[in-house]
Amino acid sequence: MLIDGHNRVVDYLRISVTERCNFRCQYCMPEKPFSWVPHENLLSFEDMFEFVKVAIDEGIKKIRLTGGEPLLRHGLVQFVKLIHDYAPNIDLAITTNAFLLEETAQSLKDAGLKRLNISLDSLKPEVAKQIAQKDVLDKVLKGIHKANSIGLGIKINCVPLKGINDSEIIDLLEYCKKNNWEIRFIEFMENSHASVKQGLSSDEMQEIISKKYKFTKGKRVGSSPSQTYILEDGYKFGIIEPHKDDFCSDCNRIRITAEGYLIPCLYFEDALSIADAIKQKDIKEASNILKKVLKNKPEKNKWGSENQSNRAFYETGG
Ligand code: SAM
Ligand code: SF4
Repeated sequence: MLIDGHNRVVDYLRISVTERCNFRCQYCMPEKPFSWVPHENLLSFEDMFEFVKVAIDEGIKKIRLTGGEPLLRHGLVQFVKLIHDYAPNIDLAITTNAFLLEETAQSLKDAGLKRLNISLDSLKPEVAKQIAQKDVLDKVLKGIHKANSIGLGIKINCVPLKGINDSEIIDLLEYCKKNNWEIRFIEFMENSHASVKQGLSSDEMQEIISKKYKFTKGKRVGSSPSQTYILEDGYKFGIIEPHKDDFCSDCNRIRITAEGYLIPCLYFEDALSIADAIKQKDIKEASNILKKVLKNKPEKNKWGSENQSNRAFYETGG
């Protein structure tokens, strides 16, 4: 079992397989083009899998593949299969913008994937285009419905932004309710890479929803970052509330970047690389580094503090 320096069990690994993305979401990426980490600096999927095995053997029970946009990385389906075949009971999921999902959903399912979290910030083509800075909605919806039709589990993520898509909170909720998907609204997390500056607080989102629906607060499920709310007819939606004080208290996550840096917490600068250890097939050292990083996991995120990390969400995987 993996335990961090504050006695929290860590059993959830988020793997960013690429920082590259085919979208430029205003809340995540800068508007101006910038250079990516060169391909040769990325950990190969074979090497990443060596680390995944260490992590699973040490106690990781849940793995999420994210990015950047994970479906952009060549070899992802085989990587899913490697993980699934090694640990069929692992809770394995992908977070994606769904742009390439229509063509990849079936092979991901065949490789063992069970569920997806999909970003959907608007149901209006022009608004989706404004946020992603690309005409995306039609392909995104086709991707989501394809995945749904073949039985992949779906949760929708949405980041409401002031004056951009906040008028669509009810429409998005109803669209997901109609399709029987949980939607999770995420409070915008401030970062220096985003070109928008203001999201909605959980209270503001709840106020909007309460104008049309009565709902109650549900129990927090396990270490999920999402607070559940329940409509009168039983439909559940979530709000991810990182600005709330108790958000970090039962954090069970650790992240690894596509280059092999283990990051104990978003907004936390100190990270250690497992790349050399893995390339040298030094599994013991990789396991030691994992434990060192966990020991160093801060009790609370470092938002607003002096040593807040400037790492981007597309690098850490959100
Ligand atoms: N490209 C994939 C996607 O968009 O779903 C996966 C990577 S993305 C970085 C992972 C998650 O981070 C998405 O749900 C996205 O909405 C969220 N995210 C990105 N920037 C954010 C921000 N500034 N505040 C809150 N959530 C953010
Ligand atoms: Fe790309 Fe996801 Fe960031 Fe949007 S949120 S720019 S889709 S990585």
